Amino acid sequence: MNTANNLSHLPSVDEILRQPEIIALSRCARQQLVIWIRSAVDDCRSEILAGVDFDPAAALRFVLQRTVRRVRAEDGRRQQPVINATGILLHTNLGRAPLAQRAVQRMQESAGYANVEMNLHTGKRNHRGERVCQLLQQLTTAEDAAVVNNCAAATMLVLQAMASGREVIVSRGQLVEIGGGYRLPEVFAASGAILKEVGTTNRTYLRDYENAIGERTGAIIRVHRSNFFQGGFVTEPDIADLVALGKQHNIPVIDDLGSGCIQNLSAYGLQEPTVGQSVAAGADLTLFSGDKLFGGPQAGIIVGKSSHVEMLRRHPMMRALRVDKVTLAAIEATAEIHLSENAAAQLPLLQMLSKSADDVRAIGERALSRLARKSDNVAIDLSECVSEVGGGSVPGSQIPSFGLRIQSTSSDAIAAKLRSGSPSILGRIQDGCVILDLRTVQESQLQPLIDRLVQVLQSETSDEA
Ligand SMILES: *Cc1c(COP(=O)(O)O)cnc(C)c1O
Repeated sequence: MNTANNLSHLPSVDEILRQPEIIALSRCARQQLVIWIRSAVDDCRSEILAGVDFDPAAALRFVLQRTVRRVRAEDGRRQQPVINATGILLHTNLGRAPLAQRAVQRMQESAGYANVEMNLHTGKRNHRGERVCQLLQQLTTAEDAAVVNNCAAATMLVLQAMASGREVIVSRGQLVEIGGGYRLPEVFAASGAILKEVGTTNRTYLRDYENAIGERTGAIIRVHRSNFFQGGFVTEPDIADLVALGKQHNIPVIDDLGSGCIQNLSAYGLQEPTVGQSVAAGADLTLFSGDKLFGGPQAGIIVGKSSHVEMLRRHPMMRALRVDKVTLAAIEATAEIHLSENAAAQLPLLQMLSKSADDVRAIGERALSRLARKSDNVAIDLSECVSEVGGGSVPGSQIPSFGLRIQSTSSDAIAAKLRSGSPSILGRIQDGCVILDLRTVQESQLQPLIDRLVQVLQSETSDEA
């Protein structure tokens, strides 16, 4: 074996770039491609030095294969649209709430220059998002509103502005972890507020709060249990009781609602406190996410008494936490939808919630009949399943639904193909079957889902043959 001779068989970067397989990867930036080709050539060199024999054709094949594999792996990391067939309406890994068409359009329109801080009627400067805040105020009946990057930012800002170096009273039953390592005690520490825990995990009384009030008290906070529930021997005062206590001692009461339910969802069988209830109960500030039940983009929305909101607006941290024009445009459109008469028809989140199990079954039957016409050898049927709200909202919610069920001995492989292909489809595996819950699939995605499913199932049958 001649190592030196073998090394002369290594292809050049230019030679690789001229190969049709590589030219087909047009979505890849050339500079990135060159880095991967060089690294594949290096790998090939190492193999040769380790004594493996490569003729010129084998060396070329080796480098090509490695490069194409790298590009494929990169594709799965590229942010791209996915079809959510998991049945989880607010899937945090999938960006929570899908936006309304009207919000998407307004984001696009705002992408160039937009009057973020200017009133075009008067030609004068106004504060960023002035109209958005007014819509939010109208929607929630609060005195004023402010918008930051997310609800975590809202909590941080509010604690820092209202109670830095002072005690904030919170029930031990509400010291929650939201997910992604967001733990309330750590947020307190980072904000400079001092955590004053009261009560026990399962029972906290109004008198526990009252006994904890002292010279150093800066605020009382209620944290909504938005991602878990407690049952059995439990009690805690409601927000109205806390507000009455706060008034008596001149201490502000903060309501961290998180889930941000605007409409009463009991018609859909879901019990979730609304922002309006919190405001009506008299909370000084109510905080919630823009991308949970509000159904908008990632944002933290703060509504409440104007003196507090004004103070937050002038706080130096506000500048660090403010949102951009595109987000403001989406919140503005989403708030307009909530204020309109037919929010359920325009907001994808409410559309998904308002479908009955029978509605979803009908969609499934349509999908099945289209599938049957295209492919006769698939073990696929319609099955009852359960959707969830998810995303740290309405814990334990169980929404009866229907999904396409693919029975196969290689469910994991089918799920992986659906996930990594184009369009990417995410389902779940249950009792060894792939389930594609159709509640979370948007109308316009149904045909692309069917087409891709047929492709994947046909490739499965040919794999077996
Ligand atoms: C979800 C949630 C948060 C965090 O909201 P983000 O918008 O994800 O930052 C904070 N508090 C509560 C109660 C929540 O449910």
